[in-house]
Amino acid sequence: MASVRAYAAQGPKSGLAPFEIERRQPGPQDVKIQILYCGVCHSDLHTARNEWKNTLYPSVPGHEIVGRVVAAGDRVQNFRVGDLAGVGCMVDSCGHCPSCEEGEEQYCENGFTGTYNGPLFGGENTYGGYSQSIVVRESFVLRIRHEEKDLPKVAPLLCAGITTYSPLRHWKVGPGMKVGVVGLGGLGHMGVKLAHAMGAHVVLFTTSPGKAEDARRLGADEVCISRDPVQMARHSASLDFILNTVAAPHDINSFLSLLRRDGTMTLVGVPENLHPSPEVATLIFRRRSLAGSLIGGIRETQEMLDFCAAQGIGSDVETIPVDYINTAYERMLRSDVKYRFVIDMSTLG
Ligand code: NAP
Ligand code: ZN
Repeated sequence: MASVRAYAAQGPKSGLAPFEIERRQPGPQDVKIQILYCGVCHSDLHTARNEWKNTLYPSVPGHEIVGRVVAAGDRVQNFRVGDLAGVGCMVDSCGHCPSCEEGEEQYCENGFTGTYNGPLFGGENTYGGYSQSIVVRESFVLRIRHEEKDLPKVAPLLCAGITTYSPLRHWKVGPGMKVGVVGLGGLGHMGVKLAHAMGAHVVLFTTSPGKAEDARRLGADEVCISRDPVQMARHSASLDFILNTVAAPHDINSFLSLLRRDGTMTLVGVPENLHPSPEVATLIFRRRSLAGSLIGGIRETQEMLDFCAAQGIGSDVETIPVDYINTAYERMLRSDVKYRFVIDMSTLG
């Protein structure tokens, strides 16, 4: 075992502070990565504060990890010391259930192992990317093809990127489709960029009028202030697909009614408390669907990273030192970030 510096929450109200963790020595199939940057996902905040009531403490969040390989086991085939590498939300899964066999490890029927907060159903805690280094089985390590100078912009792709890319691909978003993205935060701004790159007509729904200009720069064709009923009515029954990234409970019926016949709204936000339930009539009269989607599999995450590298897509980031994290969480809650905080891990000392 090796001692590694990290930032951890010790309880729901403690905030995050310096903490030492132990990492295993790399085994034959393991890659050891020196973490250079780690994105700050709203899930980190939900977890650090036990908002989902399943946090194991001490909690070291962070699942948007990019860095450099500093050691590789004997049986590692695709990574060498010095390579750039990424780690997203998962570090292991059973490998033999139907979901794993189809490359959908996020739906592992025996429960995947999260990069932080351990196996979902009991077992040892895992520690995430707010730390100097991490040791991960090669099959859960991603290759980075972006230029090294772009690394801070790549980190958020490992969660915000794949969580928006996967449903956009699953619901076959492309040219000729009118697609709504709800919420312009970390996930939402990647949703706008990716749906635009896939050729869709993109409408961004936001509660923040000040984000309208940015949204257009990011690739939105139209912007709708979701608190304005007149603006909302203009899109009634017109959207093929909606990606809803909002991190708080809200009236999802007002968005469902914007779907045309056979349209789908997919929820990716996981609020602390429930949304008011959907109205049955809103669903049945136009055969609308309400769906959910969880991150994406490893193969699809690599596909997304390669798509973004080829298209020159990265996240819009504000790079911060690690001791800014508690302030960053407060600003994220106020939607005051354009559009992802990324920790420069060299500031961990
Ligand atoms: P974020 O950066 O905080 O963005 C959330 C956005 O939602 C905000 O920027 C804001 O956009 C909007 N919003 C916030 N409060 C709102 C309210 N009360 N009513 C309406 N809109 C509101 O968060 P994120 O990192 O993108 O994460 C979003 C959610 O996805 C979180 O719950 C996170 O845990 C979850 N998540 C899920 C998965 C998955 O696999 N399904 C993966 C990662 C994250 P505007 O200012 O534009 O309105
Ligand atoms: Zn995340």
